[in-house]
Amino acid sequence: MSEKKRTIAKQRAKKLKSTIEDYLEVKKRIPKGLEMTKTIKTRRKRILEVLGGREADFDDYRWQLKNRITDVETLKRIIKLTPEEVKAVEEVEKQFRWAISPHYLSLVDPDDTFDPIKLMAMPTGLELRDPGGNPDPMSEEFTNPAGTITRRYPDRLIINITNVCAMYCRFCQRRRDIGEVDEMQPKGLIEESIDYIRENEEIRDVLLTGGDPFTMPTDKLEWILKGLTSIEHVEYVRIGSRVPVTMPQLITDEFVAMLQKYHPVYVNTHFNHPMEVTKEAKAACERLADAGIPLGNQAVLLNGINNDKYVMRVLNHELLKIRVKPYYIFHAKAVKGTTHFNTSIDDGIEIMEYLRGYTSGMAIPAYIVNAEGGKGKTPILPEYLVSRGKDYFTIRTWEGEVLKQENHPTLDIKKALKSLD
Ligand code: SF4
Repeated sequence: MSEKKRTIAKQRAKKLKSTIEDYLEVKKRIPKGLEMTKTIKTRRKRILEVLGGREADFDDYRWQLKNRITDVETLKRIIKLTPEEVKAVEEVEKQFRWAISPHYLSLVDPDDTFDPIKLMAMPTGLELRDPGGNPDPMSEEFTNPAGTITRRYPDRLIINITNVCAMYCRFCQRRRDIGEVDEMQPKGLIEESIDYIRENEEIRDVLLTGGDPFTMPTDKLEWILKGLTSIEHVEYVRIGSRVPVTMPQLITDEFVAMLQKYHPVYVNTHFNHPMEVTKEAKAACERLADAGIPLGNQAVLLNGINNDKYVMRVLNHELLKIRVKPYYIFHAKAVKGTTHFNTSIDDGIEIMEYLRGYTSGMAIPAYIVNAEGGKGKTPILPEYLVSRGKDYFTIRTWEGEVLKQENHPTLDIKKALKSLD
């Protein structure tokens, strides 16, 4: 290589490095679960003391499920709460159910009022100050042709199989389904859903959702998977679960061995913040990935949690380390009791602007706005196409340079080959 070319390459490399210096600086200050293992362990001890458990109990999902924190008296013995916070929890629980798994509580910074993990787990008075919000902004009740199905697309649909979750996230878009007691959907309704799929052969992709399907007893989840995979036109099953985040202890070898029998099975999980990517979550995701289950992440864009160009980039990098591909960032819907978590669409566009080019395509999910009234997922992107002509397109690169790009007509390949004869 000539000296001149090397000099140009070095200058370019220096410029590229300067474009991520701000990120590298801020990244150091963003808490990451994988770097906080020691602190989490200390908090775990306090939780075990209060709940009266042994070290081994913490790794047992049955203990985790049974010991979800659901009363403010127990909560305030574990983390510091102001009298106002206690009062807010007591007021909110009259209207909206809450429960926090011991694992998730061990991620909460007890000294930070604005800790994103705490905001996602613990009720605040803002839930009651909600000026608007609709219990069903996706009009799911108008897209339910049978059983517990939601059908919004031509070749795929959702079956809601349970209302149980490892914890009840404060931003939950399905909070109207949570109810007062844990229960799976009645067997008859699930059978009706499976029958509908059997009768409609254009359905090739089925997504199991809830609540959280992974909280179901393994034999019951297996019964559903068996029913679906016995239908010839169902090409694969997807499962949406936040358990790898909120109760990763549930992903045992036995559980994964069951899922593995029904391949192709895909799992989309739901991490929203780098602090959620813990040693335990890593073990759970690796177990699923080792069983040949591809993992995607569906984050929700949430005010005060991840509506920040640096936090979202760190989150996506942390996910790739544990073999989870960032798949979607969902724009939060205006659900009653959660609208304080809503952000502007501008926040989402800014995040996307600072992903493309600044990091690898593997770390870039699609930013999706769910069109109102259940009209479907709509991707939103910063403007890269400036104008469109017959022979030229004008584009904007990730660095902001506006360029003309030639637009060649597509060759008629059959005609071209024939012309060679
Ligand atoms: S795990 Fe999912 S369905 Fe359950 S409360 Fe959290 S966001 Fe809602």
